[in-house]
Amino acid sequence: MTRQTVTLGRLFDIRVGVHVSWLVVYALVTYALARGLEMLPAGQAYLFGGVCALALFASVVAHEFAHALVARRFGVRTSAITLFLFGGVATLDEEPPTPRAEAWIALAGPALSALLAVAAFGLMALVERTVPGRSGIALGLLGAYLALANGVLAVFNLVPAYPMDGGRVLRALLWHLRRDRLSATAISARIAIGFALALVAAGVLCAMATRNAIYAWYVVLGVFLLRQGWTEERATHAPAPGGESGVPAAA
Ligand SMILES: [Zn+2]
Repeated sequence: MTRQTVTLGRLFDIRVGVHVSWLVVYALVTYALARGLEMLPAGQAYLFGGVCALALFASVVAHEFAHALVARRFGVRTSAITLFLFGGVATLDEEPPTPRAEAWIALAGPALSALLAVAAFGLMALVERTVPGRSGIALGLLGAYLALANGVLAVFNLVPAYPMDGGRVLRALLWHLRRDRLSATAISARIAIGFALALVAAGVLCAMATRNAIYAWYVVLGVFLLRQGWTEERATHAPAPGGESGVPAAA
């Protein structure tokens, strides 16, 4: 994820970049939201969709920074935060030192997303009462979108499919119980493979039953998770990867 990644800048001494595939997300979010706002002139609808897509970008970056800054507290550096087709990734320079550190680092992202969802919801309620007219409606819609997006970020990332956040919490628990990081990783990765296969199967069945192309997305996501789980599982058999630098931390 290097050559097609554009560096936007550095924050807290961490490189923030965007992979070209994020542009697909940006365009899709803008388009889908603008299509849903048929009551507005097209220009305004697309402008609003674009602003919401930027807000989603900021939400994902904030989620990743929560991981990175908590990791720093445990002495683990993060070299980069990158946004791509399936969300964001914080690349930690090394594995967390203890199961406790792993769990805190993994939980930090969803916890911040949940907080942001609640804050956006509160802001939405406040704006609807205090700001009159169309700007009040627009701000209220933006707040609703932010609340929904951050809520989804919090919940979806807690799915126990390693190396997603929920899978990392599971690995931390197994690591703590078994006192062995490698076997905890192997078990978590196998659970993730099972989850990914179920997601692919559900996506295919739903797509066939409803003839709705949206379910193809679940298949694509499932294949991505399958590949990740498979790579992690394989890595537990191999000797420590010499050339590999950086541990991709949860989306
Ligand atoms: Zn996360």
